[in-house]
Amino acid sequence: MSAEEKTSYLMLIDGKFVVGEAGTRSVINPANGKAFVDVPEASPDQARQAIDAARKAQKAWGLKSPLARAAIMKRIAVLIRQNARHLAEVVVREQGKPINEAIGEVGGAAEFFDYYAEFARRIQGEILPSDYAGEQVWIQRVPVGVVAAIIPWNYPSALVSRKVAPAMIAGDTIVLKPHEDTPLSALEMARIFVEAGVPAGVVNIITGRGETIGEVLCSEPGVDLITMTGSVPTGKRIMANASRNLTPVSLELGGKAPFIVLADADLELAVRSAATSRYMNCGQVCICNERTLVHRSIYDQFVTRFVEFSKSLVVGDPMQANTDIGPKVSREELEKVEAVLAEAVAGGARLALAGGRPTKAPIDGGYWLNPTVLTDVTPDMPIMTREIFGPVVPIMPFDTFEEAVSITNASNYGLSAYLFTNDLGRVMNAVNEVSFGEIYVNRIGPEMLQGFHVGFRESGLGGDDGVHGLESYMRKKTVYVNYSGAATAALMPYGR
Ligand code: NAD
Repeated sequence: MSAEEKTSYLMLIDGKFVVGEAGTRSVINPANGKAFVDVPEASPDQARQAIDAARKAQKAWGLKSPLARAAIMKRIAVLIRQNARHLAEVVVREQGKPINEAIGEVGGAAEFFDYYAEFARRIQGEILPSDYAGEQVWIQRVPVGVVAAIIPWNYPSALVSRKVAPAMIAGDTIVLKPHEDTPLSALEMARIFVEAGVPAGVVNIITGRGETIGEVLCSEPGVDLITMTGSVPTGKRIMANASRNLTPVSLELGGKAPFIVLADADLELAVRSAATSRYMNCGQVCICNERTLVHRSIYDQFVTRFVEFSKSLVVGDPMQANTDIGPKVSREELEKVEAVLAEAVAGGARLALAGGRPTKAPIDGGYWLNPTVLTDVTPDMPIMTREIFGPVVPIMPFDTFEEAVSITNASNYGLSAYLFTNDLGRVMNAVNEVSFGEIYVNRIGPEMLQGFHVGFRESGLGGDDGVHGLESYMRKKTVYVNYSGAATAALMPYGR
């Protein structure tokens, strides 16, 4: 059944599929601007019910053997793969990325479950010597408890897995809320979770507004970890709400990735990589190339080739396999990018490729934006400092490596950075000096499951993926055991 034929989507709370007590919300296809399906709108009470269900289910889930939890996770991965085409089409319809990218995303959604299932035999503790004979001390990892997960619209399928898979293997239960604009993929996954045998209450998926149910999830004392991916302002608001209960937060926020091309770089590789890293998912990725810095000696050549390559990309129907760039996710997001662009041009930036809205839309009513290339930009222009999140790229020359590093680091963001050079010394200098959580050398993303996806400064707190990402889903408990049959003398100062 295709997403367009589906007439009803339901939320998953405590193992039951339910309607929203606050009504419904229409989901819009960004390729034509038309509403095509309704989803439930949860009430704040339903958000609390979901937290209660997760709390009730956590003890039994946490006590299951990790292998038993992993078996369910492997079934989830199988089911995602079996339904991959359908799930990818749902991503395209609600979010607008080209079908090939959506297929990649859904593949990633399955991988998270396989990858974290491997940790069934790998979550370990530490045994420590006691200060006294006849005693044993150890530190063991235990589930954190109930997790609230909040995700954005740019990867509506993979980000569900990125949060749910580590929670499941850690023995946590979870309530997940997708973005208002892209709730379908998470609701599709809810069906898969039930089919795979996830016990009631272990994973709960609720849909609705950030300002209502998102606030509840981040303010209730019954939540033990908040993991959120989204924008910096929302991250700050969530952290403020979480502080009332001292709930730990893991925040994956925005980026302003620098893309540094040194004079000796493989120019063709650098151009194609810089363009791909800017235009994938219509420029709507936290690790996208947001500001391209090119050595002055190759700057003109780079810009010429970059513009040529940009012109060769097909902006069109995201359901077609030959489409490179689909629509922006929403009218609001389209207008945000246009505003940054207009501000840059008004501030003196030159349009090396005019781009902008196509004169003839690939599909009427969609939120289209052609690749747009800007030169004559300065580091202090908003287009060089604020996240753009669209197919718009400023390209700036630099004279020295030190200057490039200094522009790179002068940012509130610190998520991903790119460097193209074959000079090993420069690579190592950059690794030491570039103050970002992730550095890609002569390649672009996406990041790998075994890495640690983490932003410095306002790009985040905590981090996702790999063994370090899993850490935030667990607590450490220290156990002191006296098995000597006598009191530990040194600890009994009263002598009786
Ligand atoms: P957003 O901050 O607007 O929304 C993210 C989520 O937060 C949504 O589900 C929203 O409903 C919810 N929300 C809003 N207000 C809330 C509140 N008061 N309490 C609780 N939840 C609330 O972000 P967006 O526009 O959906 O996503 C784009 C942003 O996400 C970009 O900045 C992008 O860089 C970032 N992002 C970061 C990563 C990463 O891994 N670092 C990955 C993808 C996207």
